[in-house]
Amino acid sequence: SKETLILLYGGRSAEREVSVLSAESVMRAVNYDRFNVKTYFITKSGDFIKTQEFITLPATDEKLMTNDSVVWNDKIAPSAIYETDAVVFPVLHGPMGEDGSIQGFLEILKLAYVGPNILSASSTMDKLLAKHVFESVGVPQVPYVAAFADENQAEIAEEVVEKLQFPVFVKPANMGSSVGISKVEDLTELARALTEAYKYDNRVVIEQGVDAREIECAVLGNGGEISATLPGEVVKDVAFYDYNSKYIDNKIQMDIPAHIAPKLAEQIQTYAIKAYKAVNGAGLSRCDFFVTTDGRLYLNEINAIPGFTQWSMYPLLWENMGLSYSALIEKLVDLAKSAFEIRE
Ligand code: ATP
Ligand code: MG
Ligand code: MG
Ligand code: MG
Repeated sequence: SKETLILLYGGRSAEREVSVLSAESVMRAVNYDRFNVKTYFITKSGDFIKTQEFITLPATDEKLMTNDSVVWNDKIAPSAIYETDAVVFPVLHGPMGEDGSIQGFLEILKLAYVGPNILSASSTMDKLLAKHVFESVGVPQVPYVAAFADENQAEIAEEVVEKLQFPVFVKPANMGSSVGISKVEDLTELARALTEAYKYDNRVVIEQGVDAREIECAVLGNGGEISATLPGEVVKDVAFYDYNSKYIDNKIQMDIPAHIAPKLAEQIQTYAIKAYKAVNGAGLSRCDFFVTTDGRLYLNEINAIPGFTQWSMYPLLWENMGLSYSALIEKLVDLAKSAFEIRE
């Protein structure tokens, strides 16, 4: 008999649209010889809605229920997703999806789930905490200043002037998809950028801006068995990789594998695995690096649940290693099951 794969998508975070795209990709690519798929949409206000069930591949022209604006009547209690032996793939990004909360909920329900556990999700979701962890294992990062909403903002500005040089990047600690991020050229802009970032989180990171290539590495595995792909490059013709260029304008081109020296690729893989282990990585993560024009390598961040459409960097990096998108989904389910067995 077939296994049940439950997809959770949408969600409360500012990244819900990205989640919908990823989930739709998964629905259209799952190996339906092995799985039946049940999907649950989480609305902006956090309600769980049962959307669809697939026992075979949906037709290419079949419209999938992925639209936030549709009103459905079959709202369910979140715990009603439970089903014996099912595996859940929370294809969710940002707060309430990638930060440990949904993972904790699934553990309480005693369900196996794809991807990061509570610790890896929560520690990488907070860019400030993650920096402390990466620092402690000797993975290089750009200089930065931590900013908190309840602190004296003039003192924060002073610290920025003392430790960093403009331009700097201002980021809410708990976001992704470039939401709430600004590139800042002077003190006036800094004040404005901080106000913007505090809309999303009272913890904010102010980073040294670097002139750099953006190189990303896909990591897969649990505990002792972790592997990293050859890195890929995000080639942009924009000043920075903001939300519009990522998801609206299609201004991104990916070079897979990245055209970099083998030694550098190896160094990136080593740091990626080291950082992944340090945050107790599980299932998958995408590790994003900067390689500066003067040859320096920095880890920018780990994305615990990276964009997962068929055309996203993470699956494409694995495809380049010979693992197809649907085989990758199966591998992730297997990892979810083995993590579950150890836990229970
Ligand atoms: P993701 O969608 O990858 O989760 P995110 O919201 O977590 O993105 P970052 O990856 O930290 O945000 O930053 C978004 C983009 O801003 C980067 O891809 C890069 O283009 C630019 N950027 C961020 N920090 C810096 C920096 N210190 N120097 C130069 N560019 C930066
Ligand atoms: Mg991120
Ligand atoms: Mg992210
Ligand atoms: Mg990033």
